[in-house]
Amino acid sequence: MITHVKTTRFLKIGVLMVMSALVACTQKTAEAPKLETPAAVTKERILNADGEPGNWLSHGRTYSEQRYSPLSQITDQNVDQLGLAWHFDLGDTRGIEATPIVVDGVMYVTGGWSKVFALDAVTGEQIWAYDPGVDKAYFINLCCDAVNRGVAAWEGKIITGVLDGRLVALDAATGELAWEVQTTPTDKPYSITGAPRVVDGKVIIGNGGSELGVRGYVTAYDANSGDQLWRFYTVPGNPNEPFENAIHAETVKTWSGEWWNVGGGGTAWDAIAHDPELDLLYIGVGNGAPWNRVYRSAGSGDNLFLSSIVALRPDTGEYVWHYQTTPGESWDYTATQHMILADLEIDNRIRKVIMQAPKNGFFYVLDRATGEFISAEKYTLATWATHIDPESGRPVETPEARYEETGVPTLQFPHPLGGHNWHPMSFSPDTGLVYIPAQEIPVVYGHDSGYEYDPAGWNTGVRFELASAPDDPETRAAFGEMVKGYISAWDPVNQTEKWRVQHSNMWNGGLLSTAGNVLFQGNAEGEFVAYAADTGERLWSQFAQTGVVAGPVTYSVDGEQYVAVAAGWGGSFALVGGELASRSKGAVSNPRVLVYKLNAKNILPPMPEPAQMAAITPMEAVGDEAMIIEGHRLYMANCHMCHGDRAVSGSSIPDLRKMSADTWELFKPIVLGGLRHEQGMVGFAETLSVEDTDAIYAYLVKRRNDLAAGLD
Ligand code: CA
Repeated sequence: MITHVKTTRFLKIGVLMVMSALVACTQKTAEAPKLETPAAVTKERILNADGEPGNWLSHGRTYSEQRYSPLSQITDQNVDQLGLAWHFDLGDTRGIEATPIVVDGVMYVTGGWSKVFALDAVTGEQIWAYDPGVDKAYFINLCCDAVNRGVAAWEGKIITGVLDGRLVALDAATGELAWEVQTTPTDKPYSITGAPRVVDGKVIIGNGGSELGVRGYVTAYDANSGDQLWRFYTVPGNPNEPFENAIHAETVKTWSGEWWNVGGGGTAWDAIAHDPELDLLYIGVGNGAPWNRVYRSAGSGDNLFLSSIVALRPDTGEYVWHYQTTPGESWDYTATQHMILADLEIDNRIRKVIMQAPKNGFFYVLDRATGEFISAEKYTLATWATHIDPESGRPVETPEARYEETGVPTLQFPHPLGGHNWHPMSFSPDTGLVYIPAQEIPVVYGHDSGYEYDPAGWNTGVRFELASAPDDPETRAAFGEMVKGYISAWDPVNQTEKWRVQHSNMWNGGLLSTAGNVLFQGNAEGEFVAYAADTGERLWSQFAQTGVVAGPVTYSVDGEQYVAVAAGWGGSFALVGGELASRSKGAVSNPRVLVYKLNAKNILPPMPEPAQMAAITPMEAVGDEAMIIEGHRLYMANCHMCHGDRAVSGSSIPDLRKMSADTWELFKPIVLGGLRHEQGMVGFAETLSVEDTDAIYAYLVKRRNDLAAGLD
């Protein structure tokens, strides 16, 4: 059986070698006739992706999004001979979350600020680059860094979402703009970070922004023209107006209050999968806006389709079925996480399943034809619910979980960053295991009794300062000890963990499994690592000089297998994580593509010496204790999403404890007047008063003096 597979693969590679040679020719000789359209990806090619394993044609390689490659030149026996073939610097300092697409010897990958690069997949040489020119001041509308998870390739076009809500299609040969469409209202804080998928010539794209109070939807556009074909809203709008989608005549019954005035949420910012046989498109739907159900839906109702997997007809966007993972969501427990389709034998029956490990901590196996609940178990520590009732498919909540009803702040797992976030999983049909980049993070949820809707700011209704690491070093250390990151090798049939690889910190990279029995993952320590897919034994690693959060891919050109990962520390945890984020060796900005092959010997240039910082000198304390406590509260409500917990930066965003004398001097013109909006620091005059700004200043002076005194 294995021999047969290998023979087939080598025959296919032979064909690909010829094709790649032709492509390379047209690119390198300007006068040569155009023999092959680059990125000539079609429905047939994606459906038959296993017949050309040298390419990575769609975000999850195939529509089933398994992120498993049939390539087997690199194996558990020789992976220790892997070396760096090339690297390409993506520029900027933002996080890198992209999955590269590789078609016929060309790699298409995105960097920070939605920039797109076409690279020679053998040499790393740049063929073209495209910058959509996002205004840096748009950063304030982003929950989770200026990141992008990758492009789609379709019939000679490279299609990408842009942070400011545009969808652009580029000529795959030149990088020139073919068409562009604004997919979101420009007066609302929507953003796009997810990768489009193309199904039958329709580009499917969602958006993000539930934290900031928007209403989620997905849209299908014609891949050739950019014309809008259909739009599906994930939550109902104002019931006094006609529903855009018929199903909302039903979903509206699960809502109360005036949710349309505060957004509602349900943004579909990442996961999409497709089953061509069942003619279904699966959309992962995000959390509510505001998070706290009291402020969203008068404290009652399931609020469909928040935190749900929704199945639609890809041709029309018509609703078919849904499964809600977290009814009445109040904790940012999105179901936008990676979804994998597979056929599994369960109770002596082959079941067509869809699998997901959403933020809420349960691993779900559903029938993907009907949405029927099959099973769910905890893949990480989850204290908000005891179990999922198998009869109803609904969670059984613990009494303390509803902080918004009890009024009592509660220490809970998972954190809003999730038991698992967007980092892609992988399913290997060889081992039958789903590899989950899992984490355990405590959080304190508390009801914000003073919450008011802010159309320009974060809308959670949750008291963030309770979740901030406490000032007492011992409690803080104990809190830090509870944080874990690991690979869980999960048996989806028996709903048990087969083995676990423990990491030193949370926020580790996506996963890739291969027919060579290799599992690849980058991590927060800045390593790129190969494990045995069946046992988890660590086989090889190299230092990437930056934390890796994205999912790796593998491809082959001219009979040679490559493994690629887009590396670069960033994303929501890097921004908000404070000291916890900064303690990882990989908490260094170095956005780049790293490509490995057997026996390659290239080495990365040495890392630049860290700039010599002048010693942090104490400043004259400002304000009394009450003012500093208020400053902390305001800091956590307005600043910490970018500048980090307790004003400790775990990313390349400036650490406010270390501000220069000039910056302290200009604090009010910067914070209220927007003096540095071109660097992404917009003015907060509509949100903060002069008094508020003074309190934040007093808190930051205290934090600087803590640092100067060696407290942390
Ligand atoms: Ca969210």
